[in-house]
Amino acid sequence: MSDLYELYQELILDHNRKPRNFGRPEASDHEAEGYNPLCGDRVTVYVTIRDDVVEDVAFEGSGCAISTAAASMMTEAIKGKTTSEARSLFEKFHEMVAGPAPQDVSAAGNGPGLGKLAAFAGVRRYPARVKCATLVWHTLAAALEKKAALVTTE
Ligand code: ZN
Repeated sequence: MSDLYELYQELILDHNRKPRNFGRPEASDHEAEGYNPLCGDRVTVYVTIRDDVVEDVAFEGSGCAISTAAASMMTEAIKGKTTSEARSLFEKFHEMVAGPAPQDVSAAGNGPGLGKLAAFAGVRRYPARVKCATLVWHTLAAALEKKAALVTTE
């Protein structure tokens, strides 16, 4: 394992211990709830959109370390982005953790604009955890679409 990989693991542990943007905000104009029955992860995502920009985003819920860290880091990654930038980040993230082509972690770390989210590149080696990492992103997508009130990864 490279030092870089170790560092990213530490980042995930840190976000699990101290989730950022955690808790229901006083106001939000988009929200959706997600559930990953494979692991029992639950998350609700609250988003405030102004002029197509994610002005505020927060989450609450309970789940494993991967799902909590993924939610925390998702909120940091998309705040201030346009909704289409947020969607494209989801596509890149999904590709990284569940895409067809194997990538090595260091390559992903230099990858297409994922920044700290590259910490989750190692998740692809644990297929059972992929849904833990992507749940919050699926839930975000639903919130942006204002579609289903409940998303499951099944
Ligand atoms: Zn989980």
